[in-house]
Amino acid sequence: MNEKEAYKKHYVAIIGGSISGSEAANLLAESGFRVVVFDMNKLPYGKIEDGLPNWHVNLRNRQIKAIDAKLDHPNIRFIPNTTIGEDIDFLDLVKNWGFSAIILANGAWEDRKLPIPGIEKFLDKELVYQNSFIYWFNHKHEYDYLGKNYFIKDNTVVIGGGLASLDVVKIVMIELVKKQLFLNKGIDVDMFTLEKYGIKQILEEHQVSFEELNLKKAKLVYRRTAKDMPLKTPKDNSKESIELAQKTSEKLLNKYMEKYLFEFVPLSMPVGFTEKNDRLTGVVLQRVVVEDGRVIPQENDFFELKTEMLISSIGSLPKQLNGLEYEYSALKMKHKTDYHVSGFENVFAIGNAVTGKGNIQESKRHGKQMTKIIIDKHLTEDAFEKWLTDLNNEITSKVQNQINTIIFEIAQKPVQPEEIIDKILTKTANIHKRLRYTDYKSWVKQHLPVRLEDELKNKANCKCQ
Ligand SMILES: Cc1cc2nc3c(=O)[nH]c(=O)nc-3n(C[C@H](O)[C@H](O)[C@H](O)COP(=O)(O)OP(=O)(O)OC[C@H]3O[C@@H](n4cnc5c(N)ncnc54)[C@H](O)[C@@H]3O)c2cc1C
Repeated sequence: MNEKEAYKKHYVAIIGGSISGSEAANLLAESGFRVVVFDMNKLPYGKIEDGLPNWHVNLRNRQIKAIDAKLDHPNIRFIPNTTIGEDIDFLDLVKNWGFSAIILANGAWEDRKLPIPGIEKFLDKELVYQNSFIYWFNHKHEYDYLGKNYFIKDNTVVIGGGLASLDVVKIVMIELVKKQLFLNKGIDVDMFTLEKYGIKQILEEHQVSFEELNLKKAKLVYRRTAKDMPLKTPKDNSKESIELAQKTSEKLLNKYMEKYLFEFVPLSMPVGFTEKNDRLTGVVLQRVVVEDGRVIPQENDFFELKTEMLISSIGSLPKQLNGLEYEYSALKMKHKTDYHVSGFENVFAIGNAVTGKGNIQESKRHGKQMTKIIIDKHLTEDAFEKWLTDLNNEITSKVQNQINTIIFEIAQKPVQPEEIIDKILTKTANIHKRLRYTDYKSWVKQHLPVRLEDELKNKANCKCQ
């Protein structure tokens, strides 16, 4: 029996079918393994579909095409709409389904909680988290959208500082201006146009002043200053290079604020809130100073920003699954830099599902690279494309190395008896039957949502092509 014939008997489960899951699945499938990919969503595109604001049309489509090419494989069974931890208990999957190995490729979908005691009572009313906010923004135009609905207020406050928070504040202003332009002036401008040319330019073209729109600018609150934002990486560690990079960051943020018309509130951290009749009315901030890179809160130095919509964009963590151990919100691994999940012989984790220290550093590095490229090159789509494509290529090449070792480990394990494999086949076939799933291509074709750019295609002035 050749290697591929021998591997055929091993069934491997992968949780998550996006960048890292699809890469792992394809490598295993190509080596002869049988792979079952579970994804909580109808489609396996993860952050590409739900985290990347939908003005990145070409980038999204290219990444989706690559995922499709990997998952549409005779050795892969894709099981959509199935959340591990809810529809199937994680320990049940590990202990009772009979897989030779389980690979976690479930990314980071849990918003880091805003550290204000009691604030959660306003959740999805006046308090909104970044992941659900971007999900709403990307999908709200779909005719069958049944998710949460958000009504953006013109005194919105965004807490953040990283690149995602710039996307959030940009969405807030684009949505507000788009709506007011239409209501106040009868001018219908699509989101793609506002994003591409910037709000300032579009208002000038239509000879409308911002004041005429009766809007207030959204505020982006950050613990540090504009020059501390990771928008420009210093050339080296010299004082001059660092100072130059900081000055450039400041300049770049100012450009961004000018283009999308928002305000920046530096050196402030959220500590409390005000409310009236059970509704959030403001966020209380404490002034801080930054000394030697450390954020130091100033005693008795508080102020309030009035707001009816607070969006928290302070990072995403892996969603915790019952049965797994976590350390400081990161999955506990057997060894620090390993892909072996602690407590199990046959459970592995890849991609953004592992957010250990090294990974956070990596994210920061990528965050820096991305903002540097995008903003240095005047926020172009091309620069962003390059960054995300490079990052995803890096993720996939890392997955390739990990999978090679995982393949070796799985191959050493005894093959499951026929009746166990039959059980996997029956259970997955039952899910397919319930979902009326026939094959990958047909499923994706049937469930791909209506794209906003397609809806707008025939409209005059749309810059979405
Ligand atoms: C705007 C933007 C900013 C980014 N910034 C950074 C950055 O700063 N640093 C960085 O490292 N990366 C960043 N990324 C990169 C991004 O996270 C990666 O490009 C890539 O999407 C990660 O792939 P993944 O497969 O690990 O995770 P994901 O794309 O998140 O895919 C995980 C998949 O698992 C599925 N899933 C999750 N939980 C379950 C469950 N319980 N059961 C079944 N299925 C489940 C999800 O539906 C999803 O399909 C950014 C991406 C974008 C779009």
